[in-house]
Amino acid sequence: MNRSESSLGQLAQAADIPSVDRLLQLPAIALFVQQHGHRLVAQQVRQMQAQLRQRALAQQLASDELLPQALEQRFQTQLQAELQPKLRPMINLTGTVLHTNLGRALLPEVAVQAVVTALTSPANLEFDIGTGKRGDRDDLVEDLLCELTGAEAATIVNNNAAAVLLMLSTLAPDREVVVSRGELVEIGGAFRIPDIMKRAGAHLVEVGTTNRTHAFDYEDAITDQTAMLMKVHCSNYAVMGFTKEVPLAELVQIGRQKGVPTTVDLGSGTLVDLAQWGLPSEPTVRQTIEAGADVVTFSGDKLLGGPQAGIIVGTKDHIRALKKNPLKRALRVGKLTLAALEPVLALYRSPEFLAEKLTTLALFTRPQSEMKQQAVRLQPVLQQALGADYQVAIEPMFSQIGSGAMPVDVLPSYGLVVHFVGSGRAGSAMMKVESWLRGQQRPVIGRIHRDTLYLDLRCLAEADVSLLQTQWGQALL
Ligand SMILES: *Cc1c(COP(=O)(O)O)cnc(C)c1O
Repeated sequence: MNRSESSLGQLAQAADIPSVDRLLQLPAIALFVQQHGHRLVAQQVRQMQAQLRQRALAQQLASDELLPQALEQRFQTQLQAELQPKLRPMINLTGTVLHTNLGRALLPEVAVQAVVTALTSPANLEFDIGTGKRGDRDDLVEDLLCELTGAEAATIVNNNAAAVLLMLSTLAPDREVVVSRGELVEIGGAFRIPDIMKRAGAHLVEVGTTNRTHAFDYEDAITDQTAMLMKVHCSNYAVMGFTKEVPLAELVQIGRQKGVPTTVDLGSGTLVDLAQWGLPSEPTVRQTIEAGADVVTFSGDKLLGGPQAGIIVGTKDHIRALKKNPLKRALRVGKLTLAALEPVLALYRSPEFLAEKLTTLALFTRPQSEMKQQAVRLQPVLQQALGADYQVAIEPMFSQIGSGAMPVDVLPSYGLVVHFVGSGRAGSAMMKVESWLRGQQRPVIGRIHRDTLYLDLRCLAEADVSLLQTQWGQALL
C-alpha cells in the first residue's frame, strides 16, 4: 500500500497545490476577479491556498480536492460566506414582537421610504427653510411630539438610556434624586437605574420598600439637596400582592409643595391607549404629562413602533436646559432616525388607521385565524423536513409584546409546536432542530420550553411563508 493512500483515497501533497497565479486563472475564479476586483479575490485565494496547505501537511487533503472544478467550487463557497453581510434578515418566531436582540420594532413602509430619501438627497436636517438660517434638528419632530403628548417642548437623543442619562446629568448633578425601592429597574443590556444615576453624577435616595412605598416616604426624603422626585415605569417586571405605590399625580403634588420637579422614565411609552384594540393598557405619555410630570422619557422603538431613539418631552424650561447640556450633542440622533421618526409619529394623528398602518400595532392585533392558516401551510413541509422522530402540531399559544412592555400580559396566537417522539434524549434532539433552523440561509428563531419547540407565527410576514416552504423543503434535518 502506497504511503499516500488511505480512507480519503489518494492523498495530495502540499507541493501539489497550485500557485496563487494558477488559481487566479481558473475560469470561475477569473470571473470573480472581474466582479470583485483583483485585490479581494487574490486575498481570498491566498487564504484558501493556506488552508489547503495546512490540510495537506496534516495528511488530510485528498487529491480529488485539487481538481479544477473542486477548487472553483470551494472558492465560490468561501467567497460567498466572506461576502455575506454580517447584519442579516432573520425570521422571528419567538412570539416576542418587540425583541431587543432581533432589532425591536419593524418600521412601516412610509418610514422606510423617508429614510431612503433622506439618505440619498440633501435634506434640511439643521436648516430652517423659512429663514434660510441654521435650524435645530429637534424642530423636525418637536411640534408633532407636543401635539401628540400635550407637552410644551421635546428633544430627541439616541435611545431612552441616553434620555435618562441626559435628564439626570442636566437636572441633578451632585444633587439627590428620590426613587422608590420598588422602581430600581434593571433593563437587559446593563441599564440599571442606580448605575446610570452614578454615571450622571446624581445621588440616588432610595425610599420605601420593594413592595410598598408611601407618600410620607417621599415627603420625608426631600431636603434642600433634592433635585427631583423620579418615577420609573416597571416595564419588565411586576410587583404583585401586598403592594402600594404613590400615584403620579400625588407625587407631583408632593414635589410642587416642596418646589422640586417630578420626572418619569416611562420606558416603553405609548402615545395611544392600546385598550381600544383589546390590548392591555399602559400609561400613555399624554396621561403622564397631564398628571403633571415635568419631564418624561421613553423609547422610540418599543410600543411606539418607530426607530431606536430616546424621546424627552416636558416643560419648556426643562427641555431648554437639556438641550444646552454638551452631552446632548454627544447623544444626538442622526438623520436616519429623524427621517424614520417623523412619518411614524404622523401616523398617530389618524388613530383610526393606526392598526393597519403601524407595523407593530398590526402585529399586536393580528387575527389568530391568519396565523393558523399559515401554520396549516407550513406544518407538512416542516414535518417532512424533520422526519419521523419529531411530531409537528398546529396549536394555539401566547405571544408577548416584548422589550419590557407589559411583562405579564400575553397575546393569543397560533403556531407550530415540535415534539420529539423518537428514542433518546428530547433535550438534545430539540437543540439539533434549533440549530438546524438557525443555520439556514434565512435563520429562524423559535422558543424552546420543556424540551418542546414553539414556532409562534405572529411575526411571520406573508412573503416569508413561501420562503420557509422552500428553505425547509430543500434541506432535511
Ligand atoms: C427600555 C427602557 C429603558 C431603556 O431604553 P432604551 O431605548 O433601550 O435605551 C430605560 N428605562 C425603562 C423603564 C425602559 O423600559
